Amino acid sequence: MSETVRYTYRLRPGRRAEAALLSEWGRCRWLWNEAVHQQKTGRKPTMCKLSKLLTEARGRNAWLRLGSQVAEQQTLRTYAAALDASFTVKGRGRPKAKKRKTSLPSLEYTTRGFRIKHGRLCLPGKVMVPVVWSRDLPSEPTSVRVYRDNLGHWYASFVVRRAAVAADEPAGAGIGVDWGVKTTAATTDPVFDLPHLGHRKRCAAERARAQRAMARRRRAKGLAPSKGYLDAKRRAARVEKRAARQNTHDARQWAKRVVDHHNLIAVEDFKPRFLAKTRMARKAADAAIGACKRELIYRGARAGRTVVLVPPAYTTMTCSQCGTRTKERLGLGLRVFECAECGYTADRDLNAARMILATAERGRASADDVRHTIASFRDGGWYAVRAGNPPDSSVGSR
Ligand SMILES: [Zn+2]
Repeated sequence: MSETVRYTYRLRPGRRAEAALLSEWGRCRWLWNEAVHQQKTGRKPTMCKLSKLLTEARGRNAWLRLGSQVAEQQTLRTYAAALDASFTVKGRGRPKAKKRKTSLPSLEYTTRGFRIKHGRLCLPGKVMVPVVWSRDLPSEPTSVRVYRDNLGHWYASFVVRRAAVAADEPAGAGIGVDWGVKTTAATTDPVFDLPHLGHRKRCAAERARAQRAMARRRRAKGLAPSKGYLDAKRRAARVEKRAARQNTHDARQWAKRVVDHHNLIAVEDFKPRFLAKTRMARKAADAAIGACKRELIYRGARAGRTVVLVPPAYTTMTCSQCGTRTKERLGLGLRVFECAECGYTADRDLNAARMILATAERGRASADDVRHTIASFRDGGWYAVRAGNPPDSSVGSR
């Protein structure tokens, strides 16, 4: 069995290659916007209509014919997918026009459009881009996305098939994970707790300095931004990105450690958006709970562990020893849980983590409103499977 994954590498395009990539992006961006405008006039474009749009546009404009047809076609394909998602995915808006100044370049090539030769990525128009091969590709890539981030760095993200990691032999027992602000992930075993690291807070002063410089150097509307302003902007973005990368790194290391040592992983199905409206929003955003959760679920399922998503309802209010639910909600200031029924006391987060694990293990009778969902990773996608059914026999919704 194998899975489809993305392997991303840094690119080091020379001046000529970068200019070629940018003009390719200019053409693709024009096509995207053309498609957006057609949508506005009431016609709902299908892939067939979009292909016709491409043929017509290439027939009309000689400058469009200079570009790669593969990249242009893929742009429209991405547009069609975005439009489709806007109809089916809740909360997703219609694709918008891409502005020259604010949109970041992104080009997609299928096997027809790229080659890897002498360690370099060869794109249409004799564009050769050196790749930093930080690790080997597991297989021949089927497509590549070439993009630039807000710092001006170029990347190539290859789609490859990779042999699925064989499920290791059962390791250890179960673990319950409760997300929080004080401790990003409180678990039933304190050894595996993920403390709040506050990467963004640590460099907040540095970022604020850059942002003050931006404010000072900002020119009136309509004027081109000064070099100093752009420098400060880049500096602020760099600080932000560094913190984000530290968060990702820590989340991965932690998730790997948890997955390596546990067989059953009970995860609080926490919605990070919930905290975004509170006074802890900044601290919560810094902890990147959503990213941590995603990483843990992904790695757990990949290693063949049982990953159970437990809805967070009442987990902090229920005693993990006797299952009695307290009458009142436990205020966030209260750090210790005390059971009025059996006298059990524990750290609030530890009790919640134990409750989550207990719910996943036995399905406590008292927690009637707790629904189990087992997440399973198959064919490159996530499937939610109702508890009670073996993960492989039932078809869940994605
Ligand atoms: Zn109790």
